[in-house]
Amino acid sequence: MSGGAFCIICGSEPPLTTDRLCELCFRKRTVLSNMPETIQQRRCAKCGFMEIRGGWSNMDSDGIADLRIRENLVLEERASDLQISFSVQPIDDRTSRLHVEVSGSIEGHTFENHHSPLLQTSNAVCTPCTRKDGDYFEATVQLRSAGRKLNEAELSRIRETLDEIINSMEPNPMFFISKEGPVQGGWDLQLGSKSLARTWGRKLAKSFGGTVKESSKVVGVNDGVEVTRLTLSYRKPAYSIGDVIRHKKALWIVDSWQKEGPILRKIARFERTGATWRDMESSNVICSKSEQSMVQILNRDSSAAEIMDPSDFKVTTVALPYDDDGLVDELRIGFIDGEWLALPVSDMR
Ligand SMILES: [Zn+2]
Ligand SMILES: [Zn+2]
Repeated sequence: MSGGAFCIICGSEPPLTTDRLCELCFRKRTVLSNMPETIQQRRCAKCGFMEIRGGWSNMDSDGIADLRIRENLVLEERASDLQISFSVQPIDDRTSRLHVEVSGSIEGHTFENHHSPLLQTSNAVCTPCTRKDGDYFEATVQLRSAGRKLNEAELSRIRETLDEIINSMEPNPMFFISKEGPVQGGWDLQLGSKSLARTWGRKLAKSFGGTVKESSKVVGVNDGVEVTRLTLSYRKPAYSIGDVIRHKKALWIVDSWQKEGPILRKIARFERTGATWRDMESSNVICSKSEQSMVQILNRDSSAAEIMDPSDFKVTTVALPYDDDGLVDELRIGFIDGEWLALPVSDMR
């Protein structure tokens, strides 16, 4: 090789870049980064979510600026050691100016660049909001009680659990209720999401016992895929945990729920049994937990205790429960078959 290397533009001596330019000519011909002067984006006018790569999500102003810069900044392909920083200058509700500083190294030379594109936001309506407006729903949830009507208090406790679920999950624009209201024997809701309906169904069975039945119906075809709607029917048992029920001629307390039915504890002596939902259809609540009272023991002997009757404040005597330990100073009592009955100590909670 001859020592005659020189800049192909101006003839300068080395050092030269790989395409044989001196630093000055190289800098004139090289741009570290490019960015359009304006960037357009769409925001849902109803919920404020931003359109991001064809979907919709919620993002703060720095997060969205960062994303738009990544999408729109074009870098010289040989650039390395890149440093990008930015700030957002709000102009009005729909416009802001982004100040972007870029530095990097190309062929060992440090370059710096500055861009200040205008970020403009136009109004749109996102897919979930369009669906909400159009009475769109994916699932119907039917709330019912086995064998009777759901009362107002039960209904509001059941309904609260849906709000709890929505608040505890990652925000999802499909977690909406498009319609709800009373129907014969219960309450119906239309939900935007099948998964929300299923999650709620599982929570209901866990909290209040009972059964959840699912069925699906094809309502149309979209791009060759069948569109189905889910109906989820929840049947709450007519009894709750802590209620005294009569079952197979004996008195029991509802202890807890399992999939097939409740676990019962006998009042008269130590005995636990599992019953099926079907078994329990013929049993009835004798004294619900809300009708029971906690009372102080005024006097006790080995088999009975004196307490104050919560209805007339007169001192009365009740038999101690089978599992009395001789120490407790309170009893849970229920008015059953015409008299006060002390419930087992293990059911006092
Ligand atoms: Zn040159
Ligand atoms: Zn929206």
